[in-house]
Amino acid sequence: MELLKKLAECWAPSGREDRIRTLIASEMEPYVTDVYADSMGNLICRKKGNGKRLMFAAHMDEIGFMITNIDDNGFLRFTNVGGISAHNCVNRGVVFENGTTGVISYEKSVKDLNLDKMYIDIGASDKAEAESKVSVGDMAGYSEGFALMGGRAASKSMDDRVGCYALIRAVQLAESCPNDLYAVFTVQEELGLRGAKTASFNVEPDLGVAIDVSMVGDVPESDHHSLSLGKGPGIKLKDASFIIHPKAREFMLKAAKAAEIPYQLEAAAYGGTDAGAIHLTGGGVPAGTISIPTRYIHSPREVVDIADVENTVKLVKQMIEMGI
Ligand SMILES: [Zn+2]
Repeated sequence: MELLKKLAECWAPSGREDRIRTLIASEMEPYVTDVYADSMGNLICRKKGNGKRLMFAAHMDEIGFMITNIDDNGFLRFTNVGGISAHNCVNRGVVFENGTTGVISYEKSVKDLNLDKMYIDIGASDKAEAESKVSVGDMAGYSEGFALMGGRAASKSMDDRVGCYALIRAVQLAESCPNDLYAVFTVQEELGLRGAKTASFNVEPDLGVAIDVSMVGDVPESDHHSLSLGKGPGIKLKDASFIIHPKAREFMLKAAKAAEIPYQLEAAAYGGTDAGAIHLTGGGVPAGTISIPTRYIHSPREVVDIADVENTVKLVKQMIEMGI
């Protein structure tokens, strides 16, 4: 879990993925033919091979906050970078790229809370002190670190560093691949699948598979989601961004059976993954998504089950070795 911890704790809000890209590149370099960043910043790791192009995508950005204004008393107003809910960030810690730490709090009451009524307190006593540390446009991410909870783990940014972890480990462990393999670590997914769009345009895959977190229905009073923690990775058949292509569905189910792992079927009413961008590339690309069941998505403590994570590694490894 040391690698997952390092990945999850890395600072990299959407648009500022430099640190996580460097970290992932160092893990991938010994195992692939080429590692390069495209002009958007996606990290493309290619294991050259003959035959069809098989692409996996895990996004390496995380949700965050961007300063919009600094007031006379040194409090920072902010906008969201990706899906931030006001209630999830009340009195939570954040950290800026230069290490400045802060707490997000709110005016008056949590009733009808929205981000307009919230601010970041970085301990400054006035505007000048705040401006000596940060500027308008600077970004922060949640500062909660990785913690084990029995067989489960909680951290900021499990979305989607746990997907990055599964893809890295699967490529490292795969013994063969009949395809031209592309493991792509995308940027700006949280802003609307932006990196996957351009990466997929460049790679022109014959089949694409996104690996991302997805919501569960196993906590008190939750919505009707089929996924539970601990029952294996999900094979996502639909969300708001795509519907699975029959070729992708067949390939993924075959791999799950061959890998002899537990898996779950998932059909979601909302949400989206990089598969939503990949499948609409060029003349169209059969695409699917592997879901890692996750509680409290887009909060500072996103919880995954470690057995699910390791079974996702096995599933991706099997897909790489089987090929398309
Ligand atoms: Zn995600």
